[in-house]
Amino acid sequence: MTKPITHIAGYPRMGARRELKFALEKYWSGQLQKAELETQGRQLREQHWLEQAKAGLDFVSVGDFAFYDQILNLSQLLGVIPPRFHTTDQEDDLDTYFRMARGRAPCGQPAAACEMTKWFDSNYHYLVPEFQPQQLFNLNAQRLLAEVSEAQVLGYRPKVTLVGPLTYLWLGKPQGEFSALELLPALLPVYAQLLQKLADQGVDWVQLDEPILALDLPQEWKQAFETAYNQLQAVTINKLVAVYFGGLQDNLGLAVNLPVAGLHLDLVRAPEELEQVLDRLPGYKILSAGVVDGRNIWRADLAALKANLESARERLGERLWLAPSCSLLHLPQDLAQEDQLDPQIRAWLSFARQKLDELALLAKALDDGDAVETTSVWIEQQAAVKSRQTSALIHSPQVAARLAAITPADLKRPAAYALRAAVQKQALNLPLFPTTSIGSFPQTPEIRKTRRDYKQGQITDDTYRQVMQEEIAQAVREQEALELDVLVHGEAERNDMVEYFGEQLEGYAFTRFGWVQSYGSRCVKPPIIYGDVARSQPMTVEWSRYAQSLTAKPMKGMLTGPLTCMQWAFIRDDQPREVTCKQIALALRDEVQDLQAAGIGVIQIDEPAFREGLPLRQADWAGYLRWAVDSFRLSASVAEEATQIHTHMCYSEFNDIIEAIADLDADVITIETSRSNMELLDAFEDFEYPNEIGPGVYDIHSPNIPEVDWMVQLMQKAAEKIPAERLWVNPDCGLKTRQWAEVRPALAAMVAAARQLRRDYL
Ligand code: GLN
Ligand code: ZN
Repeated sequence: MTKPITHIAGYPRMGARRELKFALEKYWSGQLQKAELETQGRQLREQHWLEQAKAGLDFVSVGDFAFYDQILNLSQLLGVIPPRFHTTDQEDDLDTYFRMARGRAPCGQPAAACEMTKWFDSNYHYLVPEFQPQQLFNLNAQRLLAEVSEAQVLGYRPKVTLVGPLTYLWLGKPQGEFSALELLPALLPVYAQLLQKLADQGVDWVQLDEPILALDLPQEWKQAFETAYNQLQAVTINKLVAVYFGGLQDNLGLAVNLPVAGLHLDLVRAPEELEQVLDRLPGYKILSAGVVDGRNIWRADLAALKANLESARERLGERLWLAPSCSLLHLPQDLAQEDQLDPQIRAWLSFARQKLDELALLAKALDDGDAVETTSVWIEQQAAVKSRQTSALIHSPQVAARLAAITPADLKRPAAYALRAAVQKQALNLPLFPTTSIGSFPQTPEIRKTRRDYKQGQITDDTYRQVMQEEIAQAVREQEALELDVLVHGEAERNDMVEYFGEQLEGYAFTRFGWVQSYGSRCVKPPIIYGDVARSQPMTVEWSRYAQSLTAKPMKGMLTGPLTCMQWAFIRDDQPREVTCKQIALALRDEVQDLQAAGIGVIQIDEPAFREGLPLRQADWAGYLRWAVDSFRLSASVAEEATQIHTHMCYSEFNDIIEAIADLDADVITIETSRSNMELLDAFEDFEYPNEIGPGVYDIHSPNIPEVDWMVQLMQKAAEKIPAERLWVNPDCGLKTRQWAEVRPALAAMVAAARQLRRDYL
């Protein structure tokens, strides 16, 4: 028996130093030629394949590269281009692609960008396919086929990964009253053609990702799986159907029996399914065991994995393959660059490149344990795992005691919303349709440079404070000139809304280059929560107090909520999320109290990741929502009646959790809904949102300036569902990625829209 085949479902594509990001941004601003961008892409693919090959994997992964998003790639490959992006002239495909993603590109007409939403329970955002009634599909596979040849020319064996037809349809949005499933008969022949082309080009394995098999599926979708895969059987190519981010549960029978050559399971999220699948897997099928965690950065306990897989190896022999649980897209690329981490903590970690080595090592150990377990790599790996289990860095008795002492009273504001609203109205003296922004203002090159210089010790504390105070003063002047009602300090001091807090909390570690793609060229650098979290001193008070001192208008204090701090970090896998979340909530509670004591009357606790933390299966929702809501309330409920608590959420589906959102009992929520044309409001058909709400009136991701009439119309739509006295006017998210030249006219238009609304509704 040879050692198990190893493969991955995808690799981070930005490059270890975010080369792709910088190339894309240069291309968009006209500083880079298209050919140079293509070269950069090719070099990254080559580099990433080389890393996979060097680690000793049996395949290299093709189809995981994208200049913006893999779902957008697939839409273009299948010819799903919404009519507003059609051009008569000979526009290059790549610019059409960027217009769909961003609303504009170096060539072609600007148009409203496609909607973007979160990829399952991750912080990766994909572009939502738009389906027209009678949508046609046309294969446009040159780019993918060229990538396959690139790999082949280099002597690699490519395994092509694509999202499968059912998941693709599920993720898309029909533009009209029909089900995406009705498009399956038109879609399948195009998938079949594509598979045939891949087979003709010598590809022997294709991975079709069907992560929706980890969701609660309606009956007709389950049936469609059988139809679809029966039909695709006509093409002779080995198909590996991959499920990740959860277990199969009621879809297990369906998944194991699909007429394909293999099945990939996420055994990190659903280890309990291994035995059942082994019992039911048809004898001709391979099982790809996703055992190395593709969503977290901890080093794997290879001895434990090996022990768990031994019987599978015995039963399946060479039909057992090994893989990470899901694509490594969600991880930073290379730990080797991290020279500033505490060595003890660093030893516990594994990034994408290290996961490749772990995978290869596990395969060797399953093949010949005696030889591998005496090697220094293995011994060192297992020592690191053990050291994390027993380290004194992790547990704080004080934190545990405070957590144990939480009472229901800690989760309740001192008065009900109606009462608070009256007190706040008096205190804040705001007009109808008050205007505000979500917090951040453009992070100019000067701001970034100042922060960098400070971090590197090149400027003193005093200089840093002076420069940042000047930025705040500038932001206040801008907002006063625009006549916004509730101001913000602009968040110039924050590199990132999660990292900023983590850096001041205990239990956190930070990387230098641990970037993970969030959407397009945008990357985030999630902190690592390795131990109990606690706050030792105020984190934002000084900046907020200074900002408030400059204006008579209310200044919003700005915090990142406990769920978002947790979701956007790599978290401990040795305790439930709930515990980590509540530890953070207590730290933020202290901050709310300090802000309030410093005279800040409006405090926003951002929770853009509230929905993202929701389990994929409905049966698990109630449990999550209970502790999620409690955590938010634990942070917010020290606020007195007169202190107005805001929260903000964006880029997720909110309609099905609107009651939990109301249960947060924030006085005001500002929420993204502009890209989806106020679809959020449908939730208010049968649910009366009790507090105030600012449905975002323009899309901050697009550099286009919003039109006054358009925003007025959106708000009118909102006012049909929510009383005008409870509506706010604001952009749909923070403005840090924009430039002042865009922000000024956009906010001016927004304020003009609010004025018009005031005239219309008074
Ligand atoms: N306050 C943050 C900002 O304005 C919120 C960002 C977010 O929702 N992602 O940037
Ligand atoms: Zn947002």
